Amino acid sequence: MGFFQRLFAALLPKDTMAALEAGSRDWIVQCPCGHERSVWELGGIRYGGKSVGKRTLLKCPKCGKRKWHRWYQKSVGQPPT
Ligand SMILES: [Zn+2]
Repeated sequence: MGFFQRLFAALLPKDTMAALEAGSRDWIVQCPCGHERSVWELGGIRYGGKSVGKRTLLKCPKCGKRKWHRWYQKSVGQPPT
C-alpha cells in the first residue's frame, strides 16, 4: 500500500477503509496504448467524486513511456473520446 493508503487505514474504521478500497479499485487510469491500472494499484485513493476526463502524466509499465493517462470509473464505463 502507498503512504496515503496506510494513513487512511490507520485512521479509518475497517469497513470505511474497505469501501474506500473498493471505490479506488473502481477508478481506472488508462494509457493511450490501452494499458489500464486501478487508482488503488497506483497507491491512490478515490471514492465517488467526478474525475472523469481528468488526465495525469504517468509512466506506463507496458509501453515504458510517460503519457497522459485518462481517468474513468469502471462501473460507469469509458467516457466518449
Ligand atoms: Zn502505455
